[in-house]
Amino acid sequence: MNNALNPLLDFSDLPQFESIKPEHVAPAVDSLLEQARAVVKQLEADQQAATWNTVVAPLEEATEKLGRAWGVVSHMNAVVDAPELRAAYNDNQPKVTEFWTELSQNLILFEKYKALQTGPEYASYTPARRKIIDNAVRDFRLGGAELADDKKERFAEIQEKQAAITTKFSENILDATNDYQLFVEDEAELAGLPDDIKQAARAAAEQDGKPGFKFTLHFPSYFPVLQYADNRQLRETIYRANATKASDLAGKAEWDNTQNMVEILKLRDEEAKLLGYKNFAEVSLVPKMAQTPDQVIDFLQDLAKRARPFAEKDLAELRAFAKQELGIEDLQAWDVAYASEKLREQRYAFSEQEVKQYFPEPKVIEGLFRTVETLFSVAIKPDNAPVWHPDVKFFRIEKNGALVGQFYLDLYARNGKRGGAWMDDARGRRRIESVNGREAAGPGSVQTPVAYLTCNFTAPITVDGKQKPSLFTHDEVNTLFHEFGHGLHHMLTRVDEIGVSGINGVEWDAVELPSQFLENFCWEWDVQQHMTAHVDTGRALPRELFDKMLAAKNFQSGLQTLRQVEFALFDMHLHYDYDPAGGKSVQEVLNEVRKQVAVLIPPPFNRFQHSFSHIFAGGYAAGYYSYKWAEVLSADAYSAFEEASRSQGNVLSPETGMRFLDEILAMGGSRPAIESFKAFRGREPSIDALLRHSGMTEAAH
Ligand SMILES: [Zn+2]
Repeated sequence: MNNALNPLLDFSDLPQFESIKPEHVAPAVDSLLEQARAVVKQLEADQQAATWNTVVAPLEEATEKLGRAWGVVSHMNAVVDAPELRAAYNDNQPKVTEFWTELSQNLILFEKYKALQTGPEYASYTPARRKIIDNAVRDFRLGGAELADDKKERFAEIQEKQAAITTKFSENILDATNDYQLFVEDEAELAGLPDDIKQAARAAAEQDGKPGFKFTLHFPSYFPVLQYADNRQLRETIYRANATKASDLAGKAEWDNTQNMVEILKLRDEEAKLLGYKNFAEVSLVPKMAQTPDQVIDFLQDLAKRARPFAEKDLAELRAFAKQELGIEDLQAWDVAYASEKLREQRYAFSEQEVKQYFPEPKVIEGLFRTVETLFSVAIKPDNAPVWHPDVKFFRIEKNGALVGQFYLDLYARNGKRGGAWMDDARGRRRIESVNGREAAGPGSVQTPVAYLTCNFTAPITVDGKQKPSLFTHDEVNTLFHEFGHGLHHMLTRVDEIGVSGINGVEWDAVELPSQFLENFCWEWDVQQHMTAHVDTGRALPRELFDKMLAAKNFQSGLQTLRQVEFALFDMHLHYDYDPAGGKSVQEVLNEVRKQVAVLIPPPFNRFQHSFSHIFAGGYAAGYYSYKWAEVLSADAYSAFEEASRSQGNVLSPETGMRFLDEILAMGGSRPAIESFKAFRGREPSIDALLRHSGMTEAAH
C-alpha cells in the first residue's frame, strides 16, 4: 500500500473518518513505529549536549503522530466496532504497547532528561517545559530506570508477577460470577420485581432451556433482586452469593482470591523498597497531589467523623421505616437496598419518567452551551468535519472571534459502541515553532485542541413520520456536563507544550476537578429554568418538581460517604502500615477500619475485598481516596460561584468564570494542581463546600 494515500498518515488536518478502513491500520502503525524508532536511534547516537530542541522536541514530534493515529484507531474501535476493525486493533495494539514500554525504560534517554534537568539551560526554560522534564525524570525513576543491574532484574520480575497475579485476580471474579446461577420456578416468589427485570430473567432461563427465571451475579441481574424482591429469603440467598464470590467461602478453591491479595501486596511492598521508599503508598503518591499517606488518612478520618452523625441518622431512619412500614424487626445487610428503595419512593414521590419530559435534547444542549458561553466568554458554533457516524455532530469554540478548540459530540447508544460516557483527546494544543531546528508551518503557529465527547443516551425516535427529540434523564444531563467539564479542561488550555497542555500531566487525584465542577450547574434553579422545556407544552421545569429532585439528591449521603471512606481507608492502610508478611490477615485490616468508621457493619461472611478490583487489579492502589479528594476541590471551587451569586445575583458569573479559566482550565498540567487551586481560590482547599453540597451540615439538617 502507498503510504501517501493512507488517510491515517495524513496529519495535515482533522482525521478523515469517512475514508479510514481497517486495512489502513497495520501499514500506518508500522510506518509510524519505524519513524519513531528511527528518531529514538538518532537521539541515542547523538553526542551533543542535551537541549530541549535536540531531545524533547524531536521525540514529541515523532510520538505525537503515533499517539494521534493510534488514538483514531482506538476511538473507532470503541464507537464503531466491527469484526475487521477489531481484528486490526487487536493485531496492532501489542506493537504500540511494546514501543511505549521500551521508551519508558530507555536508559540513554533517561540520562539525557537528567542532563536537561541539571543543565545550564534548565533555568531559562518556561515553567511548562521544566514541568515536562521533571515529570519525565520522575517517571523514568518510578519505572526502575535508576536501579543497579541485579535489582533491575528483580524489578522486572516483580512487574511481570504482579501483572500475572492481578490478571488472575480479575479472572477469578469473572469466573466466579459467570459460574453462579439461581433458578426460580414459581413467579410468585418474585413479587415486587419490576416487569422488565422478570422478562430478562425469564429470557435468560429460556436460553438455557429451563423453565422459570434465571438470576446471575451480574449487576443488572442481582441488584434489582436486592432492591425490589419482597421475598426476604431470596434477597438473602443472592446477597450471600455475591458477598462471598471468589473467596474461601464459595465456588472452586482455585477462584479464591485470599492468597492473591497477599501476594500482590507483598510484591508492591518489595517494589517500593527496591525504589527506596518505605511502602507502596509513598510510591503511589509521588505523581499525585496528596503529599503523604498520613495526609490522606487524616483527610479520610476527618471526613468520616463529619459524616458519621448523618450516617447514624440515615440508618436510624431506615431501621424505623423498615420496622414500621415493612415489618422488618432486625434490618440485615440483604434488607438495606430493599428498605432504602421503599423509603426513597415514599419520601420523594416523583418519577424519573416525569422529569425526563422537561429535558429534550435540543434544549439541554442549548442550556449547556449557554452556561459555558456565559461563564467563560466563548462562543460555541456548529462546524464541519468528517465523522464516523451520521449521528455525530461537530462544533467549534471561539474566543474573541478566534478558534480555540473543536469537539465531536456522539450522544446516542447504538450497536457497536462501547457503553458509558467519556472524553478523549483527538489532538492536543501545542505551538509548532521548530522541529530539529527546522521552521514548521510558520513561526508561532498553534495546533488547536480537539476533543471526542461520547455518551450513550437514547436516540431520537420517529413517531407517525415525525421525529421526536431524545429525552434525557437528569442523571444523563449530569453526565453530559461532567464530560463537557473534562472537554473544557482539554480545549480551553493556553499551554503551548503538549506534554502538559489540557489534561496532560494533571495529577490523578485532581483530574476530576473540572468535570465534577461543571455538574454543579445541573442543580441550579437559574440554570435549569433556561435548559428545560416540556416536550409537549414547552413549559420550563416547575419549581415544585425541582425541589423534590433537590431533596432526593442527598438521600442517605451520610451512609454513602462513610462507605467510600471505608474503602479508601482500607486501601490506604493495606499499602501503608500493613505488613503482608506479618501475622495479620487482610480481613483483619478491613475489620479494624470498619470498627473505626462504619455504622453499617456487614455480616462476618462478607468478602467484599475479594472482588475489590479497583485496588487489586486496577490503577487505584493507594489511590481510591482520589474520588473524594477531587470532590473537595470541585465543590470548593464551585462555592466561589455560589459566593458570586450571593453578591451579584447570578451563579453564572463571567468574572469568576474568567478566573477559573485563567487559573485552572487554561493552566492544565503546567503547574501543580494545588498551586492552580490556590491561585483561583486565594487559599487552601476547604472541605466545607463538599459537606454542604452533600447535605451534611447543621444548617441543612
Ligand atoms: Zn470524569
